[in-house]
Parts: sequence; C-alpha cells; structure tokens
Amino acid sequence: MSELRVRFAPSPTGYLHIGGARTALFNYLLARKEQGTFVLRIEDTDVERSTQESVDAILDAMTWLGLSCDEGPIYQSDRFDLYRQKVQLLLDKGLAYRCYCSAEELDAKREVALQEGRKPKYDGSCRARNDQPDAPYVVRFKLPDPDGEVSFNDRIKGVIRVRNEELDDLIIQRTDGTPTYNFVVVIDDAEMGINLVIRGDDHINNTPRQIHLYRALGYEVPEFAHVPMILGDDKKRLSKRHGATSVMAYQEQGYLPEAMINYLVRLGWSHGDEEIFSLDELIEKFSIEAVGRSAGVFNPDKLLWLNSHYIKNGDPQRLAGLLEPFLVKKGIDFTAGPDLVAVVKGLQERSATLVQMADGASFYFAETLEFDDKTRRKFLTEDNRRLFSELKTALESCDLYDETHLEPALKSVLQKMDLKFGKVAQPLRAALTGGAPSPGIYELLEVLGKERVINRIESALNQLTAP
Ligand code: GLU
Repeated sequence: MSELRVRFAPSPTGYLHIGGARTALFNYLLARKEQGTFVLRIEDTDVERSTQESVDAILDAMTWLGLSCDEGPIYQSDRFDLYRQKVQLLLDKGLAYRCYCSAEELDAKREVALQEGRKPKYDGSCRARNDQPDAPYVVRFKLPDPDGEVSFNDRIKGVIRVRNEELDDLIIQRTDGTPTYNFVVVIDDAEMGINLVIRGDDHINNTPRQIHLYRALGYEVPEFAHVPMILGDDKKRLSKRHGATSVMAYQEQGYLPEAMINYLVRLGWSHGDEEIFSLDELIEKFSIEAVGRSAGVFNPDKLLWLNSHYIKNGDPQRLAGLLEPFLVKKGIDFTAGPDLVAVVKGLQERSATLVQMADGASFYFAETLEFDDKTRRKFLTEDNRRLFSELKTALESCDLYDETHLEPALKSVLQKMDLKFGKVAQPLRAALTGGAPSPGIYELLEVLGKERVINRIESALNQLTAP
C-alpha cells in the first residue's frame, strides 16, 4: 500500500453521468496504479435532493463499470454529529458566526450591489453581532485576512491564485441545521486522510474557499487535480441534447463496460496515439500528468466503434451471458436452442451493440420465420420448388452437421441441378433466415442444426408462390 488516498464523492441527486464516471475512473486508476486507497463517499447532506434511488443508481453504475472501492460507501448523513462539532469548534474559536440576515435582506443587498456594478457578496454585517435573537440563522465562516490571497498548485491546471477579497463569508450551516457541501467536503477529505482530490473543474472555484477552511480547522491541505469538463460536439457543456448522459443508459443500449471504460479514459487522457486499452493496461499507464488541460469532446461514434471492437474480440461465453437479458426483453425464448454461444460467435463480427446482437439473433430462435418482402418475392417462388426439395433430401440424409459433411451434401445438389454455388446457397440462406444478415452458410446450418434446418425448408416449401 502506498500513501495515496483518493476518493469519489458523488451527490445522490440523480444517476451517474458520464462526467462523474470519468472522475471515478481517474481516481480508481490512480489508486490501483499506486496501490493506494480508493474511498467512495456519498455526499447526501442535502436531504431535500438526495434519494436512495440515486444512491442505488450510482452504486449500480460503479459496479457495472467494475470500479470497486477499498473503503465505503461512507454516507455523510451518518456523520452529522462530527460536522456539528466542527461548526461549534469554529464558533468557539471566533472563526465562524451566526448570521440572521433574511433571504429578503440578502436579495435586496444583492440587487444594490448589481446596480452599483459591484460583485454581489455577503457584506459581513452579522460578523460583529454578539446578541443571539430567537430567530433562524445560518452559520458563516469568517474569511481571514481580506487583503491576503490563497493559491494552490493544481496537478492539472497549474498554479491558481485567488485574492481573498474575491471570496465572501461562506455559509457552513443552513437554517435547518444541516451543514453545506464546502464545509463537510473539507472535514471528510481531511478526516479520511485524502491527500489528492481529483474532481471535475466545476469545483475549482470552491477550492480556494475550502483551503481557508482546511487551515481554520487545523487540517493539512491536500493536493488537487481538477479534470476539465466534457463538451458536446457543438462545444457546449455535455447535456441530454448530445445523447444519453447517464452511464447506465449505455448499458441499456447494449454497450459493454470495457468499451465505456476505454471511452471515458480517453476523454481527457491520452497515451501517444493509442486508442485501445484494457483495464490492466490503463492501471499501468494512467497518470494525472497526461490528463490534458482542455475539455474533452463527447463523440458517440467513437464509443460505438470501441463497443464493436470489444464485441468482436469478446469471449463468446461471456457475451452470451450478457446478451440473455436483451433477448428476454425482446420476448425471445432462447432456452430451447440453438446454442446461444454458437449464435453469438456468428454475430460478433456484425454487432456494434448487444441490442443489435439481440436483433440479429432473433431469426435463430424464431418458431416461425418472418420473411421480408424482398426475400419472399425473390426466393420463395414456385421455380425454386425442386431446389428446396433436393436441398431437403440432401440435408436430411447428412448426419453430421459440420462443414466436412455439409459441403458434399450441398455439392450433390449443385451437381444434380447444374447450378452454381450462389444459386443454391442464396435461396437456402433465405429459407433459413427470412432474409436477416447471417454468417457463412455452413456455420448457419451447423448452428441451426438438422431439425430446424429441415423444418425451415419445409416451411419455405409450403409458402411458395408463383414467380
Ligand atoms: N459531491 C460533489 C459533486 O457531486 C463532488 C464534490 C467533490 O468532489 O469535491 O459534485
């Protein structure tokens, strides 16, 4: 174990989105690479917006991606006592104060500031107050030294410097007594020994405030690495307009977790011009230093390309297991055969997603084949009657359904009818698939097996129409 302790700290107010998953992944990879510790912390202090459903959705997505944590999930809602103690500590030290300003008063002050062209910020009017009226209050952190500045060396963005006068007295406890994000994140990161905070750069403006809080609470300040955000192809912040932003929506669309991982890591990180990385390779090669400073652009075509790569090269046995729920969803009963693994092998080359694979698998399991119009008109015609009869006889008497035995069976039909291979294979393929794309004829015959093959040829014979 190294000293490195990182964390992923999602707020359970929705599903795990692409950006969050990438942050989790970067943390996970670095922890694994450096044999550090990866902590998962659920930031649910905003009781109004946090739901168990979102917690479950986030945990499911992490499990699907394989991002296992070493500690956690730790829930902030279990730690309110600790936060209350820390609020009290700052109050006792005179580093925080109760603020009784009402929302209306604050709004009015904000209006005036905006009208006068000033940046609206709290004017500190309750700072010097000693009375404790029986009225709702928030607790604010007293920003130290208005003339000073705070700076940190971000591992991705470089040195960031902010003058204290840009900041104001942050609310650390709401009127309902619950603590706020900027306060608890500091306590937890410090108490959990996090020494590198990797998170989205939407939090970069919070970091100077948090650094002041670390110091006020007597904690060591960790290192920070703020990861640039993800944009859509129009260079606007990634949103639903650009496609699904929920990680699990991609699972439903038939993506493999390894494709998603490979895709996510390349949104901001690179290693030469390599595109394909296994998880083990990523653990070996990942570094914060190779994370770029500019935003990554979400490209659904590339994700699809990666997914087809992983489907093409995936273990058929595993893919068959992953395909099952997609078949069930389509109402396909695959239990009576043909062998699902064999079916998968025939579809891997031609399926970019598991949804496409399930579509492609339909004809194998169909009780009655649906013929598309073109196939019906082209092949299910009376002038093919003799061909189908000959095929039936030849394939019925073929005992072993493998290429070595099937090839002479088909050849006998070619010779008997003096036809070229294509003139035999095409109608046969049509009778077996209904016109759906399929693998080579021998593989198709082998996977379907004799009984299905003969049934399908018979069924074609029963449907022939005048040409
Ligand atoms: N809970 C915060 C969020 O979901 C993340 C906080 C952090 O990483 O510091 O945006």
